[in-house]
Amino acid sequence: MSADEETDVCIIGGGPAGCTCALYTSRANLKTVVLDKNPFVGALAITSHIANYPGVDKSMTGTELLDMMRDQAIQYGTDYKKTQVFMVDTTSEDGRKIVYTPDGIFKTKALVLATGAMGRPASFKGEGEYLGKGVSYCATCDGAFYVGEEVVVSGVNGEAVEEALYLTKFAKVIHWITNSEPNMEDHLTKTLLDEPNVKQWPKTKLIEVLGDGGGVTGVRVKKRGEEEEEEIKVEGCFIYEAGSKPITDFLTSGAVDKDEDGGIVVGDDMMTNIEGVFAIGDIRNTPFKQVVVAASDGCIAAMSIDKWLKGRKSYKVDWVHK
Ligand SMILES: Cc1cc2nc3c(=O)[nH]c(=O)nc-3n(C[C@H](O)[C@H](O)[C@H](O)COP(=O)(O)OP(=O)(O)OC[C@H]3O[C@@H](n4cnc5c(N)ncnc54)[C@H](O)[C@@H]3O)c2cc1C
Repeated sequence: MSADEETDVCIIGGGPAGCTCALYTSRANLKTVVLDKNPFVGALAITSHIANYPGVDKSMTGTELLDMMRDQAIQYGTDYKKTQVFMVDTTSEDGRKIVYTPDGIFKTKALVLATGAMGRPASFKGEGEYLGKGVSYCATCDGAFYVGEEVVVSGVNGEAVEEALYLTKFAKVIHWITNSEPNMEDHLTKTLLDEPNVKQWPKTKLIEVLGDGGGVTGVRVKKRGEEEEEEIKVEGCFIYEAGSKPITDFLTSGAVDKDEDGGIVVGDDMMTNIEGVFAIGDIRNTPFKQVVVAASDGCIAAMSIDKWLKGRKSYKVDWVHK
């Protein structure tokens, strides 16, 4: 783990909300870092065409638009890091928020939560029961616990592939459960399948995570077209299936106010109930899940942060009527 880094603004999530906020805070000369789990798995990243974002051609893909947003923020000075946040501490006495990732610890004056709403409710039998006891959504956080063990990775998206590849450094066998066809054009998928300790289970569905008092002991799976379910003995189960729930699992339970559907509650300035902690985009779980809305939230939060950090009474826009 690298040494602690100090920033003015730390943004968790590099989707349109996070990138827009970073663009504005960087332009306001605030030292800004974006910590992004994976630029290919957020809601915009997986959108095939983005026909309704003002000013862009209807042929533009979500990934292309996101790349442009990220590049623009970086050009203005944002430090973009690909890493998954697994914990946040908002209780330190000096008011700084501490953000934990497998690649280092970040201390920040203002913290922005922008992780979207692609989280999954624990829906496989046993998934919720063994979450944190062998079930994980983060190989880069938990992979090192499985040296010489057998694990399962379930899912075919880019995140599943990268995380399974990461696990090849530690686990004895990675059972890769793929219900749909993985993208065989992708070089990382090919690299993964060439690894000697990866066993792919094609057309196979995860049915149940099995365990006992000590945690996960195996999984039950079912191959398409076959009657019988099979059991695989594993110590770890890494699940990468998309969902539609605000991603807040890295926050201490009860720390930030949420509504009954799990959306983070903010004021007009995008600040949560915790001073200096802001939430923007789909993580708010409003009915208005659109790229333009996420970008707008990012802009509002950035201007609020600038005012809040500089102790100003009014907002400063970066244009002036003459
Ligand atoms: C299939 C689909 C089609 C859509 N089509 C349209 C459309 O045509 N037009 C439109 O306007 N909107 C569309 N939307 C909605 C739009 O994509 C979202 O409203 C928008 O992307 C939300 O932006 P966001 O930044 O809040 O979240 P996201 O775009 O989801 O980005 C969240 C980011 O947070 C990162 N992250 C998550 N967890 C962590 C963690 N623990 N640590 C670090 N980083 C983390 C993710 O890797 C991701 O990069 C669509 C959504 C979907 C799912």
